[in-house]
Amino acid sequence: SNNDRESMMVLNSWASDFFVQELPKADFAYQYFVERGFTEQTIKKFGLGYCPENGEMAVAALKAGFQEQFLERTGLAGKRERGGFYDRFFGRVMFPIHSLSGRVIGFGGRTLRADKKVAKYLNSPESEVYHKSFTLYGIFFAKKAITQSDRCILVEGYTDVIQMHQAGIENVVASSGTSLTEEQIRLIKRFTNNITVIYDGDSAGIKASMRGIDMILQAGLTVRCVMLPEGEDPDSFAKSNSTQYLADYIAQNEVDFIRFKTALLLKDAEDDPIRRAEVISDIVSTIALIPSAIEQQVFIRECSRLLDISQDLLQVEVRRKSLGLV
Ligand code: ATP
Ligand code: MN
Ligand code: MN
Ligand code: MN
Repeated sequence: SNNDRESMMVLNSWASDFFVQELPKADFAYQYFVERGFTEQTIKKFGLGYCPENGEMAVAALKAGFQEQFLERTGLAGKRERGGFYDRFFGRVMFPIHSLSGRVIGFGGRTLRADKKVAKYLNSPESEVYHKSFTLYGIFFAKKAITQSDRCILVEGYTDVIQMHQAGIENVVASSGTSLTEEQIRLIKRFTNNITVIYDGDSAGIKASMRGIDMILQAGLTVRCVMLPEGEDPDSFAKSNSTQYLADYIAQNEVDFIRFKTALLLKDAEDDPIRRAEVISDIVSTIALIPSAIEQQVFIRECSRLLDISQDLLQVEVRRKSLGLV
């Protein structure tokens, strides 16, 4: 019910405050953020916190009068078999996830251990207040800048969003915890029709970019991409370079999807004609997803120029794909 949802959000907001208060008490956790290059102001703005190790949050929440059922339904705590509750995020630094209107609807928690056996990030489970596929991390802080710049920059993770905001680039959100969904694109579309994808410069990031491009185009939005140097993500890149360099890098390396795809795919294909044909077919499939025939035409022209194939031939192929004939 609405009452229950309200209770869950009040609990989330209380828990977020609790985690914030715990951060300075756990100096190693605070230092973790400092070492990542986050300023005091940034830590405060994004409500970063720490969840202590021994179930202190659940105990304090019950003492504050919150009902057990809401601890469970928000996924903040779980019931122990022997009775009592454990904090699901124990020992993690906390990133509250805000709704469009700025209310805390869930959390991401990062482990401080290097141990590969524990999940690096843990997210709140799906609940009545937290619907992963409808949520974009950072949207509350980014919406104004997205409208003003008429562009939304899409990154992979919490720290990418935070580091870019700190560098003064505020039209940035992440689809944390899921791969990009149609609902997330629809949410962006409320503010702009233009998306720039800046995913990690690794094979997972490239693969996710390719998938993201197709989804964004299919939804009728425009998409550009920026390829980061190998091994970098927006967080590491923004941290190790000046704000000016970051802004210049994006401006100079932002390309439309045809250029992004041809550059990446042709690099592997080299002069092998069979591989080249596959690349062309891949790009044709993507163009065929664009709902507007006029925009399709623009990209067919560019594709023709870049790959040296006749526009007429591309046109025929795009039409065949659009009609589902191939
Ligand atoms: P960091 O810089 O803190 O190591 P990152 O944001 O660069 O983290 P990536 O490994 O690039 O992390 O993953 C991107 C995003 O995917 C994360 O921000 C997080 O939202 C999500 N993610 C990563 N690992 C996990 C995991 N084990 N379980 C759930 N979500 C994860
Ligand atoms: Mn990655
Ligand atoms: Mn990353
Ligand atoms: Mn990272």
